[in-house]
Amino acid sequence: MQKQVTIIGSGIVGAVTAYYLSADPDLNVTIYDEGIGQATKNSAGIISPWLSKRRNQRWYQLAKAGAALYPEIVADTQMGYSVYQQAGTIVTREDPADLEALYQLALQRRADAPQMGTIEKLTAAEVADRIPLLTRAQPGVFVSGGARVDGDKFAHNLLKYAEKRNLVRHKGKVTLNEHGQLMTPHGQQNYDTLILAVGAWLKPLLLPMRMVAKVRPQKGQLIEFQLPETWADDVPVLMPEGERDFIPFTRSKLVVGATHENDQGYDLQVSPLVEEDLFASGQKLDANLTMDQISQVKVGTRAYTPDFSPFFGPIPDNPHILVASGLGSSGLTTGPMIGKLLADYVQTGHHDWNQYQLPVETYLEEAD
Ligand SMILES: Cc1cc2nc3c(=O)[nH]c(=O)nc-3n(C[C@H](O)[C@H](O)[C@H](O)COP(=O)(O)OP(=O)(O)OC[C@H]3O[C@@H](n4cnc5c(N)ncnc54)[C@H](O)[C@@H]3O)c2cc1C
Repeated sequence: MQKQVTIIGSGIVGAVTAYYLSADPDLNVTIYDEGIGQATKNSAGIISPWLSKRRNQRWYQLAKAGAALYPEIVADTQMGYSVYQQAGTIVTREDPADLEALYQLALQRRADAPQMGTIEKLTAAEVADRIPLLTRAQPGVFVSGGARVDGDKFAHNLLKYAEKRNLVRHKGKVTLNEHGQLMTPHGQQNYDTLILAVGAWLKPLLLPMRMVAKVRPQKGQLIEFQLPETWADDVPVLMPEGERDFIPFTRSKLVVGATHENDQGYDLQVSPLVEEDLFASGQKLDANLTMDQISQVKVGTRAYTPDFSPFFGPIPDNPHILVASGLGSSGLTTGPMIGKLLADYVQTGHHDWNQYQLPVETYLEEAD
């Protein structure tokens, strides 16, 4: 008999999990999504974890593995360069000593991350040459394996791919009762395995089960420009020192962002002051940008844990309910690996995730 796997949330985690599970003909997979505030849809799209200063080794292993999965998934599903492209990333540093330290870190990290590709130390003029939009540049380190992804299109394509196999999609909000029964817009639904890939909304969803997820929401905004000029498809992403990230997408779309607003809860309003601040940051790099070229302001909600680490897996004492949350500001990078590991667990019933995370219990506690 086929098993019923139900996924809640169709962001990067839900979509990648559905993609991997779609290869299994013994499963019926259903996904529900309420369709609000999704971080994946509103993200900047930088995939380049290797030069991060974070000391968290578990996070790094997860992010490195996630970044390495993209080319495989993209090739398998035949997504084009408007969805994902390894155009390279440049991280800048003004101080020559800092630049050299960053370059050495890159060389060291590449020893066990061959997907980083070519590493080059660039002068300010060389950086400006690689990113013709810049009117002001700093020296930087170029990593050819760095990529940009359109999170919205990536997740959408995976869901479409899985729908051709064993996935059924529904729109709508679900809730759980105290026994973990699933209430959907179509009434109560049974499941063999339930996967809660709900990002920043895990806490309210689990509360009726008297379980508190240690996750808080963080608001993130970014601006998108539609520019009159076009540029080559392989212009790298810029992660400048002290300014917002600068992400030229294919041809004439430029993204500048993002903010990290910790005091706004689940608010999804665009704030004009923040828009101006993001614009000013973009203009410091490209003095020709104008406000009327802003085509969109995007707002999303990230999920954070107290130690900034993602967590995933079965909840204590219930192997049938899995959770994944806390992906923070690098969830497009870690998300594919988390989705793959969850799918593996559904199929095998086993896991050995110590290299990637602390036990899930660390992030879940009983309600008073
Ligand atoms: C502005 C911004 C910029 C970012 N830039 C980057 C970047 O450059 N690189 C990077 O690696 N990461 C980036 N991130 C982080 C990344 O986008 C997130 O960490 C990641 O997308 C989280 O994915 P998720 O699947 O866990 O959650 P989400 O994408 O938030 O998906 C959760 C889904 O669950 C649904 N849901 C919740 N509750 C319910 C319910 N009760 N019933 C039904 N559906 C429900 C929601 O509607 C939502 O669609 C950025 C995030 C933001 C906001």
